Amino acid sequence: MTGIDMSSALEPLVGKRTAAALESLDIATVGELVRHYPRRYVDRGKLTDIAGLEIGEQATLVAQVEKSALRDMRSRRGKLLSVVIRDEKGATIDCTFFNGHKVQHVIHPGVRAVFSGKVGVFNGKLQLTHPQFEPFDEADEIRPFLSVYPATGKITSQQVARCVRQVLDVLDDPTDPLPELVRGREKLTDLGRALRRIHVPESEADIHAARHRLVWDEAMGVQLALALRRQATATRPAAACPPVPGGLLDAFDAQLPFALTAGQHAVGAEIAADLAREHPMNRLVQGDVGAGKTVVALRAMLQVVDGGRQAALLAPTEVLAAQHARSLRTLLGPLGKAGELGGAEQATSVTLLTGSLGAKARRQALLDAQSGAAGIVVGTHALIQEHVGFADLGLVVVDEQHRFGVEQRDALRSRGELAPHMLVMTATPIPRTVAMTVYGDLEVSALRELPKGRSPIATTVVPLAEKPSWFERVWRRVHEEVAAGHQAYVVCPRVGGADTGADADLVDTEDPDIGADSDDGQAKRPPMAVLEVAPKLDDGPLHGLRIGVLHGKLPPDEKDAVMRAFERGELDVLVATTVIEVGVDVPNSTCMVILDADRFGLSQLHQLRGRVGRGSAPGVCLLVTDMPAATTARERLDAVAGTTDGFELARLDLELRREGDVLGALQSGRRSGLRLLSLLRHEEVISKAQVYAQHVVADDPGLRRHPGLAALVGETVGDEERAAYLDKV
Ligand code: ADP
Ligand code: MG
Repeated sequence: MTGIDMSSALEPLVGKRTAAALESLDIATVGELVRHYPRRYVDRGKLTDIAGLEIGEQATLVAQVEKSALRDMRSRRGKLLSVVIRDEKGATIDCTFFNGHKVQHVIHPGVRAVFSGKVGVFNGKLQLTHPQFEPFDEADEIRPFLSVYPATGKITSQQVARCVRQVLDVLDDPTDPLPELVRGREKLTDLGRALRRIHVPESEADIHAARHRLVWDEAMGVQLALALRRQATATRPAAACPPVPGGLLDAFDAQLPFALTAGQHAVGAEIAADLAREHPMNRLVQGDVGAGKTVVALRAMLQVVDGGRQAALLAPTEVLAAQHARSLRTLLGPLGKAGELGGAEQATSVTLLTGSLGAKARRQALLDAQSGAAGIVVGTHALIQEHVGFADLGLVVVDEQHRFGVEQRDALRSRGELAPHMLVMTATPIPRTVAMTVYGDLEVSALRELPKGRSPIATTVVPLAEKPSWFERVWRRVHEEVAAGHQAYVVCPRVGGADTGADADLVDTEDPDIGADSDDGQAKRPPMAVLEVAPKLDDGPLHGLRIGVLHGKLPPDEKDAVMRAFERGELDVLVATTVIEVGVDVPNSTCMVILDADRFGLSQLHQLRGRVGRGSAPGVCLLVTDMPAATTARERLDAVAGTTDGFELARLDLELRREGDVLGALQSGRRSGLRLLSLLRHEEVISKAQVYAQHVVADDPGLRRHPGLAALVGETVGDEERAAYLDKV
């Protein structure tokens, strides 16, 4: 026993200067250091000799820097560092580094390092271009694997490795948080051993076993946090709203002009049962664009109104809120006209509440919500969250969940004494692992079929790099659609306008994909902008058509006016940003042209094209890009054109996106406790951990008999959240 455990401070062990440098990695305790895992390993058994290198090979070798020289770059600003390295057998090869200024301090003659990169040819000689390199310690000579750590400018991988070994030498084996039962059944290495092995492995098998075990820790941490969160919300009291025979919902069903799909029936039944309980419903309904989620939501709202309570529908934008209010009123007909001429006897009323209402209208809307006169209130997230008092809010419906995180959901839940039921609707298909993590606090239902009579959407990539003449055909196609009595969208990634720089414009969307540089490394012109494209189309290829413009910077009433004009068919073409991405429903529009389509995320393109083909005429979506063939950007577009399966695209999207962004939504804490867990690779672990976590929490709701697990939850989601779940029990 050395008395050194995971919570010990590092400074006494590694010294003041090193401790300060480790702070730059957010590492202050022994536990944080040993949880700072190697990013990769260099397998000494797989090192190559310089003499044996071949063109095109991916090589890893140990060599010493012999010469280095800084040179100007020919076509760009900046300096190249030219280096000659020599291996133990005396053979040499040239290396070139592009960021010469930065690396010259590390790569100077005499330094031994591991170099890895692709072997190419330059001026008839073999060379490594911009290889990765890791300086090399004498102490590393004897070990079969070199551990390479994420480092900063203040501390190198080598120094981190040294500290870790120093600490592991004196660390008492930590108490294993995972119950024996789990470790035994899943054949998991114990924690102490896993930590040693992940830092100082003897074999590849060691690395695998250690990682697998540590992934389990993270998966259990996440699943326990979610199980606790579910427990905390599910035990709150809520107003039970059982179905009322002969009520408003029955009257509504009787007047519906179409038959519900099997999915709408099934999900509707689940929701009806949830609403009848005395604890809040927490349900997510996922259904592809056009699957008919609005009717499902409205039926839930009517059941709650039948129970004498109010329902709120929250939309992400004002345009969408206004449209929802209109379509709810249309669907309800006389049943939505309480107190109006022609209103049915049991009618309720739909109140729209947005920032663009005039002061008087807004006061009235607030009053109606407060007095209970409004059975259904539709508005934007922000407005309803902040300003509205309800007489008796029984249900909150959140539309288009993908802009709405776990924390916002919590904020909505913690209103009065009785928690409102919550129904979340999203068109973004959710891969299973995401459902089990980011949405793990919700029950998930899916609407898998579209209502009958939907037309297919044909998606085509228009590759301007190879087929510039297709551009003209794009606009001819728009003319044809309009001539046939239909309407079209032209979508641009950017708003544009004189006073804003390219980047500032991208705020029209919250999607991090937009405007991100592609991995193809091409210098790009600024993306197409609505305000520039619209006049050009008007003067040029779309001359004579009635063109409207819609984007996030328009004043709300103007947005609404444009949307209505388009809905009424007074405009032929709508040039817009992604404001139309969610929910806009104009069945007469059959054609969508997406300019600079490579700038959008996969799921987003799928959402966008869901705006056409909503009526009986077939829809067409043209993805215009000037990215060259065989680039990742083009492959992504081909994927969108190749499938209409939103689930498949969502999975691909997840692969291409930084997973951290997805998992980050789980955490409010300062730093992520998730280092190894991958939503793509660890589906099996995640789903098993979910089952174990549910058992543990059901059996020991306060985790009092499982202090190790309670600590694990803190490590994963932060101590604040842990306290929020556990201290209440
Ligand atoms: P989303 O799931 O994308 O929100 P909506 O709720 O806007 O889809 O529905 C799209 C269209 O389909 C609407 O015009 C709606 O009235 C219609 N619709 C919904 N359910 C059915 C059904 N069962 N049969 C026919 N049309 C339906
Ligand atoms: Mg919708």
